[in-house]
Amino acid sequence: PGQDYQAPANLLQGRVILVTGASDGIGCVAARHYAALGATVVLLGRDLQKLEMVYDLIEKAGHPQPAIIPMNFSSATQADFDQLAVSIEQELGRLDGILHCAGLLGDITPLEMYDPDTWDELMKVNLRAPFVLTQALLPLLKRSPDASVIFVSSSVGRKARAFWGAYAVSKHGVEALSALFADEMANISKIRFNCINPGGTRTNMRARAYPAENPATVKTPEEIMPLFAWLMGPESQGVTGQSLDAQPPRLA
Ligand code: NDP
Repeated sequence: PGQDYQAPANLLQGRVILVTGASDGIGCVAARHYAALGATVVLLGRDLQKLEMVYDLIEKAGHPQPAIIPMNFSSATQADFDQLAVSIEQELGRLDGILHCAGLLGDITPLEMYDPDTWDELMKVNLRAPFVLTQALLPLLKRSPDASVIFVSSSVGRKARAFWGAYAVSKHGVEALSALFADEMANISKIRFNCINPGGTRTNMRARAYPAENPATVKTPEEIMPLFAWLMGPESQGVTGQSLDAQPPRLA
């Protein structure tokens, strides 16, 4: 569901949505798309200058004024996550969704040679941050009439593939994290928790993972937005604990 969704212009009007990894790639395009659909977006990333460029694009387009939260998931402390929840509550008064897009690729190399420090950093950015961030923001999400939390996984988060190392393990963890939140919250709140596998998408990360590939042969982030809109908006109410694909599988 959702791959061919055509979002009405005001789909996310009045909603506040946090997008991590909003400085580049899929997160940047999703933040701009959500803003175009009427949402007030909170742009989170580690590079303030890049975030300000996204902010300017949204403002120039006449969409609701966004907010910026600079944060590096490699070094963020519990106090930073707690403060983020306080800031969103004080500045914006509500939160209706999170898109967890920030991620690192790490090394494509056999486990036999995988650098343990790189492993630790990937677990922190790709897995620990979405957990702690969601945990810190649950009180706000519970107060929303229709909250949606979207985790971004990968095909190697469902079936491990040689050499994908900590990335594959972290994405398996993300799938489990989403399923656990969905299961635990199903009877006590209306918040929905789902995973999106974007499929091969034209970004810097994809180019690093597949340096020999012609980028023109993979979909742009803009082309995979229908599912991101559908899952964030009210028409996906009741859908929780699912792992969904943003595009049809590519033929080998
Ligand atoms: P990009 O590398 O283009 O963007 C990644 C984003 O995450 C950037 O905004 C980056 O910030 C941010 N980020 C990285 N490290 C940190 C950190 N330590 N703290 C805070 N933010 C950080 O990747 P994509 O857009 O391709 O990927 C987005 C998501 O989609 C990822 O979770 C990825 O695993 C997943 N994915 C992507 C696929 C693809 O084909 N592109 C396929 C399957 C899954 P900065 O701008 O500073 O680098």
